[in-house]
Amino acid sequence: MRYSKMLLPTSKEVPAEAEVISHQLLLRGGFIRKLTAGVYSYLPLGLMALRKVTAIVREEMKRAGAQEILMPMVQPGDLWMESGRWQHYGPELLRFRDRNERECCLSPTQEEVATDLARRELLSYRQLPVNIYHIQTKYRDEMRPRFGLMRCREFIMKDAYSFDADDEGAARSYENMRVAYSRIFARLGLDYRMVEADSGSIGGSYSHEFMVLADAGEDTLVLCRDCSYAANVEKAMVAPVLASAAGVPLEELRKVATPGTKKVATVAEFLKVPPQQIIKTMIYQIERDGPEPREFVAALVRGDREVQTVKLKNLLGANEVNSLTEDQVWEFLRLPVGFIGPVNLPLRVVADSEVMAMVNAVAGANEKGFHYQGVNPERDFSVQVTGDLRQIAAGDRCPHCGGLLHFREGIEVGHIFKLGAKYSEAMNATFQDREGRQRPFIMGCYGIGVSRILAACIEQNHDRNGIIFPMPLAPVQVILLNLGLEDEALTSAAEELYQALLAAGVEVLFDDRDERPGAKFKDADLLGIPLRLTVGRTFKQEGLVELRERKSGETTLLPVDQVVAAVQ
Ligand code: ATP
Ligand code: MG
Ligand code: MG
Ligand code: MG
Repeated sequence: MRYSKMLLPTSKEVPAEAEVISHQLLLRGGFIRKLTAGVYSYLPLGLMALRKVTAIVREEMKRAGAQEILMPMVQPGDLWMESGRWQHYGPELLRFRDRNERECCLSPTQEEVATDLARRELLSYRQLPVNIYHIQTKYRDEMRPRFGLMRCREFIMKDAYSFDADDEGAARSYENMRVAYSRIFARLGLDYRMVEADSGSIGGSYSHEFMVLADAGEDTLVLCRDCSYAANVEKAMVAPVLASAAGVPLEELRKVATPGTKKVATVAEFLKVPPQQIIKTMIYQIERDGPEPREFVAALVRGDREVQTVKLKNLLGANEVNSLTEDQVWEFLRLPVGFIGPVNLPLRVVADSEVMAMVNAVAGANEKGFHYQGVNPERDFSVQVTGDLRQIAAGDRCPHCGGLLHFREGIEVGHIFKLGAKYSEAMNATFQDREGRQRPFIMGCYGIGVSRILAACIEQNHDRNGIIFPMPLAPVQVILLNLGLEDEALTSAAEELYQALLAAGVEVLFDDRDERPGAKFKDADLLGIPLRLTVGRTFKQEGLVELRERKSGETTLLPVDQVVAAVQ
């Protein structure tokens, strides 16, 4: 690879639209280019880095016994209607019609297609278990695509789906993926934590997220100082707050709590209290990058109509809300707001889907917009803004060892779920068991944000001069600089070294551009390639090539014939 021939447009300017460092460096290093909001092209070096991620993912999935396939990105709406998600997925699902007026969508995830495949091809228990996966483009019409590769609308995911005959088998498949994921993230050289996540169930460990620790992360993790306890803040906080508000031990609550819309109803039933009471204890979190939260909360308390309704609608997020009139939105927001502690925002992330789900549960309707009709906010539900979650949690102790909890920001790079029979039952996906009966598959699904990993890696590995790729993720291992383009001896030595490196199978980018040494050094640092070889002054004077490690800055001088061995 000769730099002079490559599409590798680096720049010194920090792009105005890029807030986080990974976004800035990916643009400045010429790794990616934006086509439109949340949609990017990968230029050669970006694609090479991406392939490093997928190669490791493939190796570990293979080791775990998963089979690679490739499923389509365009999907028939019919399948989504069967699973029930056509109605429930919301505006992240990009829908359209084909020339025959058939409903279609772009895949944000693949449970329907995988389940459809299984019900057609996996007919007997003898064929189970099966784990199929693919690495493919996903589309989610995110409300706020941002932070470069971190939150795109079009992005690359590895998603796997497991099919088992029973719960025990499904638990083994889940464990198998948990181990594979731990291996993958360790091999990628990322500082990560596996955390218990709320999506599967409040209590069980049926869902884990893999979080790369980084301040730019959009998730908040609760970690124990004394043991390995780690959870997503939603899981760690919502359940304890609900439990203490309802006056029951957390363990009891955890036994009954189930995900999604059912949560409120089930918990309420268990506690023998009206669902309204549960709703009242809900934490309403305010998205940190929405309208200035402090201002917003103040306006909310004053009942200030000056705050734009549009912003409020955005804040609430769900599509149903967008169909409300201004009066209805205000009706919804005109709630008794009780503060616990100071309003020390920013609070993190919305639970708006959850707010909607809970409102739904109370109003008991699925019709669009219907759940707000005839609902009296004061009578039927209220929302409490609870102030700084961190303060509430400061008093909280680790549920495992009683140690003190603390917080870190994290980037979600992987997520594994136990799905049970949710999709197989809805879509009538069954196999014949040993006794000849038809039974639904017990499923799991397992995602990795392949393209997001690039951003996460850079958030963790950079300095003021640019990226510092860990070797496993580096697009190439070595950058070779020829600093004497007008000097024949230097140029032919650099050329020879380049050929020798290629012949030895070293991945090398050869900077043969007609640029000043300063510019070449700057670009080499910006691109973050782990090893830099320089054929320049020391070669001319002493016949030595300089080897510099990007991470430590350590340099060594080597005779030409030792260079290849030193970088291998
Ligand atoms: P998030 O909470 O960040 O919105 P998610 O929980 O919606 O992510 P999953 O449905 O669990 O995402 O998808 C599996 C993985 O795909 C995530 O763990 C993440 O790494 C990646 N991913 C999800 N949404 C995006 C996105 N908009 N851009 C890039 N990667 C994404
Ligand atoms: Mg999401
Ligand atoms: Mg998530
Ligand atoms: Mg997730």
